[in-house]
Amino acid sequence: MSGSGKPPVRHVDAIVVGAGFAGLCLLYRLRGLGLSVRVFETGAGVGGTWFWNCYPGARCDVESLQYSFSFSEELQQEWEWTERYASQPEIQRYLDHVADRFDMRRDISLETTVTAAIYDEQANLWRVETDRGDVFEARFCIMATGCLSAARVPDIKGLDRFGGQWFHTGRWPKQPVSFRGKRVAVIGTGSSGIQAIPMIAAEADHLFVLQRTPNFSIPAWNAPLPVERQNEWKENYEEHRRAARNSRSGILYEYAQRGTFEVDEDERRREYERRWATGGANFTHCFNDIFFDRSANDLAAEFVREKIREIVKDPKVAEMLTPTDHAIGTKRICVDTDYYKTFNRENVTLVDLRQAPIEEITETGIRTAAAHYDLDAIVFATGYDAVTGALLKIDIRGRDGLKLADKWHGGPRSYLGLMMAGFPNLFVITGPGSPSILTNVVVSIEQHVDWVARCIDHMRAGGAERIEPTEEAEDAWVREVGEVASKTLFTGTNSWYMGANIPGKPRVFLPYVGGFGKYSQICETVAAEGYRGFQLA
Ligand code: FAD
Repeated sequence: MSGSGKPPVRHVDAIVVGAGFAGLCLLYRLRGLGLSVRVFETGAGVGGTWFWNCYPGARCDVESLQYSFSFSEELQQEWEWTERYASQPEIQRYLDHVADRFDMRRDISLETTVTAAIYDEQANLWRVETDRGDVFEARFCIMATGCLSAARVPDIKGLDRFGGQWFHTGRWPKQPVSFRGKRVAVIGTGSSGIQAIPMIAAEADHLFVLQRTPNFSIPAWNAPLPVERQNEWKENYEEHRRAARNSRSGILYEYAQRGTFEVDEDERRREYERRWATGGANFTHCFNDIFFDRSANDLAAEFVREKIREIVKDPKVAEMLTPTDHAIGTKRICVDTDYYKTFNRENVTLVDLRQAPIEEITETGIRTAAAHYDLDAIVFATGYDAVTGALLKIDIRGRDGLKLADKWHGGPRSYLGLMMAGFPNLFVITGPGSPSILTNVVVSIEQHVDWVARCIDHMRAGGAERIEPTEEAEDAWVREVGEVASKTLFTGTNSWYMGANIPGKPRVFLPYVGGFGKYSQICETVAAEGYRGFQLA
């Protein structure tokens, strides 16, 4: 404390909020430019998503060889992945290794939440405050707060009086949780629920799965990673990474070049079967019109519905699990291990909340409009206030005291998902209006971090101290993001991509859906043309 009782203000060149993949990558790159950096992280460890989501069954659904950093050749050569899809503990080990290997921890303040980031126009500095009373100032402030980090527990009457345990998958405790001998409810059947349900069912005395909307899920067919495959990737990493960066989603799927109706029924069926047998989200790239043409989408969706009916023995349960209200892929496609099969277990009951919604949580369980379920534990797999949630929890104020929350009142506005007019020198990693959650997010993170680092380097070389997008460039980008989305089937679905899971959140399609490869080319061109659409001073 200084003499006045106020905490001393500390200065660094750049402040980074968040220590997940993005925060760690930023720290590495910005240090490389010779900048002093301070990273703040709410969690007690690094890892972000992979620190918080240690629920049973948590796993990446992009293959491990692709879901990893490319910035260090030694790292990608030396790290050994053990499975086709890495589990949460393995990714956490990887990120801990990264933090240690590059001596990152000395610049990271854990268990420290940034509460405010306020721009001082005269000094051209961001003043950042934390819940520990720290005040830091920096020329650059970079939000690496995550697209899926603001966990959402729905506002259900009575949760505070529940006598059992409750958890959110995205805030899972570090101490072991046992469901043995217990009656458990999982609320939510999105990606996290679909991963956790088979694991909890195998342990609990009885599992109630409380479902509002059924989702499409494709089997992962996870397996140990063959040494030869890992070796082949390591020998050709540069080429594979380059191909991924040029692809639609930053992932090396087999992107079909032909449309659904360019082949006959038999061939179509063979293709669906082949993709189902290969596993994972590759399925949704079986034909190139699936996100654009409802009748093409319907055929792929119907194939998955048939699979559900084949796997689930009780026709009534199968029907309840069958999605009919949205086009396949327009909600995040789930990738599972034994999800549908789990409903053949005697100790699993599927509860349809559309028929009978939850009315309240009681001391002993959950009451729906139809019944009371006695429970020892409740697991909320209810997702996130996606993309904008973590940013809007911070009191961010730009020029003339403009609050980000006010600027985004009708939906997020940004240029390239990277910066906002009125907020000079404030960057966002995988922000709204960038491909972010539609991609291999690590590829998106590396592209953004690289762009930001090169931008800062360019500014220093040219003596510029301030960068900010123009209102015109921002307006044009917001229009472009909306227009591209409107040509797809995505905007017809009530999904968290649209903000539909959060009461009162503006219904805006959050990511840029024009393709990762195209997007990163736009970013490159903008930079090459002297940061077109930005004002540098
Ligand atoms: P995060 O990992 O979310 O890290 C952000 C960090 O910022 C968090 O630790 C948070 O505590 C911290 N933070 C936020 N606000 C503040 C604040 N005010 N002060 C201090 N700290 C703050 N992506 C894929 O590409 N493929 C997948 O298969 C995949 N699977 C996923 C599975 C789950 C269960 C979840 C939740 C997400 C998944 N994702 C996946 C998306 C995943 O979030 C990204 O891949 C990636 O981990 C994001 O890294 P990040 O650093 O941007 O954000």
